[in-house]
Amino acid sequence: MKKLLLNPGKIFKFAILFGALLYGSVQARNSVTMLDDKLVIHFDDRHRKLVNELERATRQRRQKMYAFFDARDTTPVQIYLTRFEATYRKLVEKGIPEWAQAVAIPERRFIVIKVTNAEEIRRLPQVFLHELAHVYLHDYAVSAIPVWLHEGVAQWLSMEQLSPDEKLRIGNALAANRLIDFEAMDSLLAFPAGKAGLAYDLAYTAVEFLTRQYGVSGLRGLLHQWQAGQSYDANFMRIVGRDFIDFEVSWYAWLEKQYRWMVLLNVENLVLLAFVVLFALALARLKWRNHKKKAQWQREDQFMDDEKEPE
Ligand SMILES: [Zn+2]
Repeated sequence: MKKLLLNPGKIFKFAILFGALLYGSVQARNSVTMLDDKLVIHFDDRHRKLVNELERATRQRRQKMYAFFDARDTTPVQIYLTRFEATYRKLVEKGIPEWAQAVAIPERRFIVIKVTNAEEIRRLPQVFLHELAHVYLHDYAVSAIPVWLHEGVAQWLSMEQLSPDEKLRIGNALAANRLIDFEAMDSLLAFPAGKAGLAYDLAYTAVEFLTRQYGVSGLRGLLHQWQAGQSYDANFMRIVGRDFIDFEVSWYAWLEKQYRWMVLLNVENLVLLAFVVLFALALARLKWRNHKKKAQWQREDQFMDDEKEPE
């Protein structure tokens, strides 16, 4: 899928990639341009149209993000787009999951995104905003915040809403009692693609629900004042005045209400529903025909009676 956050230990590995990218840039005709006054983007000349489209598609959301993080003039973030799967694989082999389309190193204000196929090109605006959110979140937080909160905020700032498929995935997880524990999301990078996808969806809903419960200012408070050394309960209590379990319980109830019914949209359930509807229609038609026949018989009986009257 997308997005991850690297720890400083991976910076060395990243230097290898950076070198490869620079080498690639000598071979391909690379361009560098400012996306806005905070972002520098490096790309293959063949991607000029794509970059123009990226600038246009993300303009509004970037402004919202800067406002959310109260971003001042800082060292610009360097974004590298690469067409080379092989270059990217060098990182993948060293611990980046197969499903990740991009890597952010917030400490270095550095983002690498691969665009090797149509699907990755389609997802580019969201993936780009997601990674950018990680960089700004790193600046904004005074202490390391939990993975679910980091990823949830990056999702929340990079997309309008969950897609129907993502909503269905949550509905199915609820029905099968397969929700992922927030603390278990600390090992998100080790999850297989499907489970990681669900974790991103759930993290998104948690952040959306946080803003409903405590407002955007409550969310900003949690991000800015979170203390890695304290428990979830202690952090929630100190920052929003309620403990974490209270949040978790009400989030779960809200999730049930919002997404549980989505299981009806599974193909097999839709087929079943179609059968039920067809059966009901057939039954109604039969009833209507019987009714019509009965009315006709009554009319015929009436006619016979009328005919008999002269006797
Ligand atoms: Zn991420």
